Amino acid sequence: MGNTFNSNPDEVMLAVSKGRIFEQAMPLLERIGITPTDDPDKSRKLVLDTTAPGVRLLVIRATDVPTYVEYGAADLGIAGKDVLMEYEGSDYYEPLDLKIAQCRLAVAGPPQAVLVDGRTRVATKYSKVAREYYARLGVQAEVIKLYGSMELAPLVGLADRIVDLVDTGNTLRANGLVEFETICEISSRLIVNKAAMKTKHKRVSAIIAALRAVVKDG
Ligand code: AMP
Repeated sequence: MGNTFNSNPDEVMLAVSKGRIFEQAMPLLERIGITPTDDPDKSRKLVLDTTAPGVRLLVIRATDVPTYVEYGAADLGIAGKDVLMEYEGSDYYEPLDLKIAQCRLAVAGPPQAVLVDGRTRVATKYSKVAREYYARLGVQAEVIKLYGSMELAPLVGLADRIVDLVDTGNTLRANGLVEFETICEISSRLIVNKAAMKTKHKRVSAIIAALRAVVKDG
């Protein structure tokens, strides 16, 4: 897919997921010379200039990052593997695991859930991933899509399982839930628009190489 907005080969647009990923990505970006010139906590600007000439940042909702990159509105993106797995498209490159915002996508629920008609009901934001997971297991599951606070669903009888991100496990414990299985390990990935990889090869590959070196150094 072509670049719809930012086609100057010397200009690079990098879309970063808001929140935890942005906070953990900033130190990595700073180490490769990309620092926002405005304080991202205070600025109301949606496009942030940086100390690197021609490099600008979009700080956007996590689920929108692959869309911006696939359509070329951003050349590069930083998003969680959970978001990428749930995204319907896959028309971008994923050259690098940034090893930040690490956690796992897991199945959890009350320790003694009672199944209605022997059928699992799963509440999750990750309906695609959950459907694929239960299909792989050959388990019949009814997947209920939610947009937040998955932990609430088993407490009020909406579902007997949830599929959610787990880091320390504190959120599950606080709600009397236990973790049953890990579906997969999660971390943030660098993704790249396919056209930008060609038309902006010099700049884009330099950013990938610099980030790769920083991630390796730990
Ligand atoms: P914890 O209580 O440490 O297990 O964290 C679980 C809560 O934090 C859940 O509500 C998750 O959705 C959220 N969470 C944990 N890790 C991440 C992450 N890497 N990215 C986004 N959300 C996360």
